Amino acid sequence: MKIVKSISVLRKVVCSLKRRGKTIGFVPTMGFLHEGHLSLVRRAKKENDVVVVSIYINPAQFGPKEDFKNYPRDLRRDTRLLRGLCDLLFIPSVKEMVAQESRTFIEVRRLSDLLCGRTRKGHFSGVATVVAKLFNIVAPDAAYFGQKDAQQAVVLEQMAADLNFSAKMVVMPVVREKNGLAMSSRNVYLSDKEKAEAVVLFQALKSAEHMVAAGSRDTKKIIRTLYDFISRTPSARIDYIEIVDKKTLESVSTIKREALLLLAVHVGSTRLIDNTILKVK
Ligand code: AMP
Repeated sequence: MKIVKSISVLRKVVCSLKRRGKTIGFVPTMGFLHEGHLSLVRRAKKENDVVVVSIYINPAQFGPKEDFKNYPRDLRRDTRLLRGLCDLLFIPSVKEMVAQESRTFIEVRRLSDLLCGRTRKGHFSGVATVVAKLFNIVAPDAAYFGQKDAQQAVVLEQMAADLNFSAKMVVMPVVREKNGLAMSSRNVYLSDKEKAEAVVLFQALKSAEHMVAAGSRDTKKIIRTLYDFISRTPSARIDYIEIVDKKTLESVSTIKREALLLLAVHVGSTRLIDNTILKVK
């Protein structure tokens, strides 16, 4: 695995790969890798000649009161985990990525203002802008994202379509701990007690799936049940519970064929997100 820190070196390597007709699969991450990330890398490896993984903790997607400074970092461990799976590890510094004062930002309208966008102003603009920059540097044939960040995946698919990026956008299922907790780099913030209590998100998703299987279609009713259920966990504070259209992210009142259920819940001081697709069988 080759480690590259500079944009110009990466461009040269990409150019030479393209000249030789190699396809490039790309997995953008913020590091502190876990099985969720690795599932994307494995899929990229299966579908492409060369896999590029980026590790870049993007300041533009953190709000002023968010955890940019404390975001978990362990490059040595990440490098070890990627050996044998990834061909090129791109680790640009903030200075390399933001060489001058930027005046250009991507705004994916409407999709960025809903759900997490309500409390995380500017977050999705920060994500979309950096992913577009990375796409321009890496020139991937396919890019791999996790359904764990469902809204991010929708925003980025829209961005890629709107800006005519040719990369195929692949979204992979949520990878979970044995108890159902969705893997996340931020889970490291949770105490053991909080980690156990955080399972309430997964349990809430499952109970909604059961309600739909049993015939519930009224989203208000399902959401009310989940509010009551999650509120019983002492360390949990709900940010939102919403059931929306998978593509537009607009709220739906009745589940017809399928709908996306998303949760954002603070467990102690850690904000967790999770989601599932509710399907009518
Ligand atoms: P991050 O490092 O958190 O920015 O995540 C990098 C990529 O990994 C994003 O596309 C995430 O959606 C994806 N990802 C993070 N956690 C998981 C998970 N538990 N299962 C699947 N994909 C994940």
